[in-house]
Amino acid sequence: MAIRIDGKAISAQIREEIKAECAAFVAETGILPGLAVIIVGENPASQVYVRNKKKACEEVGFHSVVYELPEGTEQGELNALVDRLNTDPTIHGILVQLPLPKHLDETEVLLRIDPNKDVDAFHPYNVGNIMIGDYRFLPCTPAGVMALLERTGVEIAGKNCVVIGRSNIVGKPMAMLLLHANGTVTVCHSRTKNLAEITRQADILVVAIGRADFVTADMVKPGAVVIDVGMNRRADGKLTGDVDFASVEPIASAITPVPGGVGPMTITMLLKNTLTAAKKA
Ligand code: NAP
Repeated sequence: MAIRIDGKAISAQIREEIKAECAAFVAETGILPGLAVIIVGENPASQVYVRNKKKACEEVGFHSVVYELPEGTEQGELNALVDRLNTDPTIHGILVQLPLPKHLDETEVLLRIDPNKDVDAFHPYNVGNIMIGDYRFLPCTPAGVMALLERTGVEIAGKNCVVIGRSNIVGKPMAMLLLHANGTVTVCHSRTKNLAEITRQADILVVAIGRADFVTADMVKPGAVVIDVGMNRRADGKLTGDVDFASVEPIASAITPVPGGVGPMTITMLLKNTLTAAKKA
């Protein structure tokens, strides 16, 4: 039976460390790390994420402001707010909650954020830095996965690491971080042939697809470490991952549950980035 990697507990531990680091930084400089979160429209899932981010900021002693803009907000207004926050000395991190309503151009607004305040690490400047392995801002979800592996004592160097999913937010930066940690990395996607054959080679399998219970026991090598990034809502409203937990847990050596695995780590890495931004400001 696999070890259950407890993302809630590991996340709480790291947040305590951030809180202590923040207190020391404030005592030394008088500067309060500040995060601004912009949300446009009334997507209920986004509203929950934004509330959680604000709460997390308060818990570690950061200053945080949420800008709730109406659904009909125009691109020019959104851009103007980002411009204002870019020059606001009390704000060190700016986050635009995605997805934006369809009439707004996400790329345009993400490019507008000062790369020094881009705590989501979505700006091409920061993405490029992640690519070359020399970065200040962590890609939040993949960095959360790395922290889970590290704090569980999972060795990455020389291991076969398979990532399913190649999104800019999860799959691609995940592959980069594993590669920088000397894993031998394979990235799979919807056009991959013989997927199960490849995933069965994995010592570490990271799944970020967005399909409930997609990875079953026959796709997993006995003893593998399985990290489930997926967050899917079942018809009954319950949250579930991309891995069929019930069938995979008995054969894996370690596995993240959903909820309570990768999820809590993403906000924790956002907090880390905000503190880094304040320190560099
Ligand atoms: P995404 O942008 O939709 O990307 C999904 C990826 O999965 C794509 O690369 C796609 O391949 C691949 N894929 C889809 N069906 C596949 C199949 N049948 N076989 C192999 N690959 C397949 O999603 P995302 O933003 O990366 O998110 C992935 C999941 O992680 C979602 O459930 C999301 O909610 C969750 N997530 C969780 C957190 C967290 O904090 N825990 C953060 C972000 C995302 P193609 O490129 O070929 O289309």
